[in-house]
This record gives sequence, structure tokens and C-alpha cells, in this order.
Amino acid sequence: MNFVSTRNDKEVVTASQGILKGLANNSGLYVPEEIPRLDVSIEDLSKMSYQDVAYHVMKLYFTDFTEEELRHCINSAYDSKFDTEEIAPLVSCDKAYFLELFHGATIAFKDMALSILPHLMITSARKNNVENDIVILTATSGDTGKAALAGFANVEGTKIVVFYPNGGVSRIQELQMITTKGDNTKVVGIDGNFDEAQTGVKKMFADSELNERIGKMGYQFSSANSINIGRLIPQVAYYVYSYAKLVENGEISNGDLINVCVPTGNFGNILAAYYAKNMGIPIAKLICASNENKVLYDFFKTGVYDKNREFVLTNSPSMDILISSNLERLIHLCAGKDAAKNVELMNDLAESGKYEITDEMRSKLDDFYGDFATEEETAKTIKELYDKTGYIIDTHTAVAKCVYDKYVEKTGDTTKTVIASTASPFKFTRAVMSAIDSKYDSWDDFDLVDELSKLGNVEIPNAIKEIRDANILHDNKCSVDGMEEAVTSFLK
Ligand SMILES: *Cc1c(COP(=O)(O)O)cnc(C)c1O
Repeated sequence: MNFVSTRNDKEVVTASQGILKGLANNSGLYVPEEIPRLDVSIEDLSKMSYQDVAYHVMKLYFTDFTEEELRHCINSAYDSKFDTEEIAPLVSCDKAYFLELFHGATIAFKDMALSILPHLMITSARKNNVENDIVILTATSGDTGKAALAGFANVEGTKIVVFYPNGGVSRIQELQMITTKGDNTKVVGIDGNFDEAQTGVKKMFADSELNERIGKMGYQFSSANSINIGRLIPQVAYYVYSYAKLVENGEISNGDLINVCVPTGNFGNILAAYYAKNMGIPIAKLICASNENKVLYDFFKTGVYDKNREFVLTNSPSMDILISSNLERLIHLCAGKDAAKNVELMNDLAESGKYEITDEMRSKLDDFYGDFATEEETAKTIKELYDKTGYIIDTHTAVAKCVYDKYVEKTGDTTKTVIASTASPFKFTRAVMSAIDSKYDSWDDFDLVDELSKLGNVEIPNAIKEIRDANILHDNKCSVDGMEEAVTSFLK
């Protein structure tokens, strides 16, 4: 199995090369030449641990890793950093199944991929005789940053620089990042939004002069953003796992169709579900839930992707995104893997901020259903679910739950549905508690944490306990234009 660039079908790499490089030339994304079919039965998968399921998914993509290497990566990632042996438990509540992807070190679903990426990357570097140190550059809308920092901190042979939009992340997210230990870490708040941070990072990757300059210093860039196949592919595993668990628990029979509903930003998580479907998991609809930055909803409705609109700061900041990078992989697929056609559309996006796909391409998107939730609807969803069941969900998951409820109402489709639950409510305590009762608006962040623990009858996660009294170790701010300088001064 090799990977090929969405922008040039002659640019073919092995899995380990793709993981190391992150982004293909000319800002292309690596995609598998073919999405492989699972070669073990659901029945066998249903008896396996999370780690074993993950192995049987990833081995089909990362074919230049030996079994020993891959199992080592998996076992190093999905260990006691997670606060449950199940790694990704399914919670049945209010006629849906919440797939809790937030039991890792930083209590958001990014841990599912970012706890394994450093191991995949070091193994890849060894395989390819890389002597440079690897510099991870990451733009974050909040959750990727800390998850990447946690994954890479103190990993020998790596450095990591994280850029986040100053004022665009929750206080708890910011504290998680700026208290990070590790000599090889740097955290910078930029005067700009997430898209500007992401564009700035992409520019540095593409800047051959800069790449040459740092090469002479003994470094090379790589990406921990969700465009790296080392992040995308591990995410496929939990959709396979959740289906197998539904079968094992007798909630469905083997072969029954399910729907999946995903709170979406950069389109990585839902694309992983689409890969799982194409590997043979019986998934009917992929419900793509957006917040008020509803560029994807409009795209699925009209076939026009148009980022020319106001950027809204919401209480689900990890979905405040107008350029959903991973969508390019889907576009490439529905263009019949025609790199030239894809390049044309992506050039339109770069030049005018929009593109339109053909009717034929649109017809290949029938598996997807898009809708969005307003801020008010999201808050109401948290409160209503809590009042009804006592289960407290975070703002991102609430966007998905709200969209799922609308979907059922509009379509009458009651197919059993897995909702990707992407963050612990503790990560967005303020917004969650304010949704439950406006009396909390004036409370202190950590008093709210204690109260949430009481109301939800859930123990305070370690990730929150840790930052309560931690020192602030990073206090760097820069302009969008100053990002390169922030990186090169750190490497000197
Ligand atoms: C990153 C993130 C999302 C969006 O996931 P994508 O893969 O970027 O679509 C949703 N919810 C939370 C909590 C996240 O951290």
C-alpha cells in the first residue's frame, strides 16, 4: 500500500515517508491508493481489545511497518495515559450511542491520534535513515495544540512549536498549553484566527528557502495537524471498534446498518468514519454537524464551498474553521482521483475563496448529510440532555447531538446512531455550566469544575487537576507575519 498526493498522482510515497513529510508537495495531501477492505470478520473484531482492533485497521495502511513496530506504537499510545481500559467507551443515552473519545491525556478526541503519532513518526524516521531532528509545526484551534504537546514533549529527536489564536481558545485550553513542560516545546499565541495560523504554518512548510535554511541547522519540518496520515488512519480504528462493540453488546446484529454523527471542523474525524465505511463497516449516513461556521452545511446543500463569510467565535472553538483541510481528500475521491481536477478546485479556493463541484461529483456525496446548530440551540441541547438523563456533554458533542435530533425529525430515520463525543465537558466547563444554569456565569473557572463534577457525578479528570496550580511556562505572542521568526529563533 502506497500513498499518493491529491495534487499529483506521480507523487507516491510509502506510509512512513508520508508520516514523516506530513504534507505533500504543492500543499497536496497524501491519500491511500485504494482504501483497503478489512481482512478480519466483525465477529472476530468484536472479541478484540481496542489495541488489537487498531492493529487490524492500521496494518492495512501502514504496510511498511513490521507487526512488531506497529504493535509497539499502538501499545505505547493506548496505555495508562487513558483513564479507561476500553480506551473509547460507548455510552447509550437518549436513543443514541455516545462514543467517548476523550479519555486520553488531554481529554479531547485529538488524543486518539496524537498519542500514537510521535511513535509512528520516530519509527518512520528510523526506517528512512533520517538524521535531522524533526520539528513539528502545528496550528491549533485549541485541542490539537495540547494533545500534540503532550505527545511530543521530551520525545528525543523532536521539537514542537504550537500556534494558537490568541483569545480564540477557552481559558482551560490555553492554560493546558502554556503550562506545558519540556525543553523541546514552544507555544505561541498569534494575533489572528485559526485559519490564519493554519495558513501561516502551511506557508512555512511550502517555503523551500526556509526548509533549506533549517536543514543546514540539522532540522526538518513535519506536521502533527490532522492532514498527516499518521493522524487520519488511527482515527479509523475507533469507528471499527464501536461497530464491533455494538454487535458484541447485542445492540445490533452483525450486518445491521448504523449512522454516524460527527461534530466537524477540519473534516478529519468524519473522513475517518468514511474510510471505515469503505473498509466494510456497515455505515449508512455520515451526519456532518457544524456550528455557526456552517461552511460545510452550505457545501453539502449546494455543491459550492465558499469561505468568504464572517468568521464566528463560538463556544465550540475546535470547530471554528472556514477551511476544512481534510475535505480535499473527499473532493479528490469524488473527482475520480483526478489530481488535475482537484488542483483546479483548490486553486479556485486559494484565489477566490470558493469553488463549485460538478453534479457528477455531488452525486458521490450522497452518504453525507450536513446540518448545523446555533449557539442557542447548542446550549439548549446540553441543558435538555442533562435535565432528562443527568448525562453532561461538552459543547462540541452538543452540536452533534442537536444536529442528530434535527436529522431524525426531518428524515424520520431512526437507524441506530453513534455520535462522536469529542471532548470532556471539563474542557469547556464555563460554556457547559452556563448552558445548564445562567447563575454559573459569574463563577470562577475552577469552582465550576468542582460543581460540574458534583452535578454530573463524574470525577475531575487528571488533565484538569494538573493545571490547577501549574506554572505558566510559555508567554509568547506574535503577529501572523512573525510566525517564521518565532520558529527560527526557537531553533537557534
Ligand atoms: C478537533 C475537534 C473537532 C473537529 O474535528 P475535525 O477532525 O477537525 O473535524 C471537534 N470537537 C473537538 C472537541 C475537537 O477537538
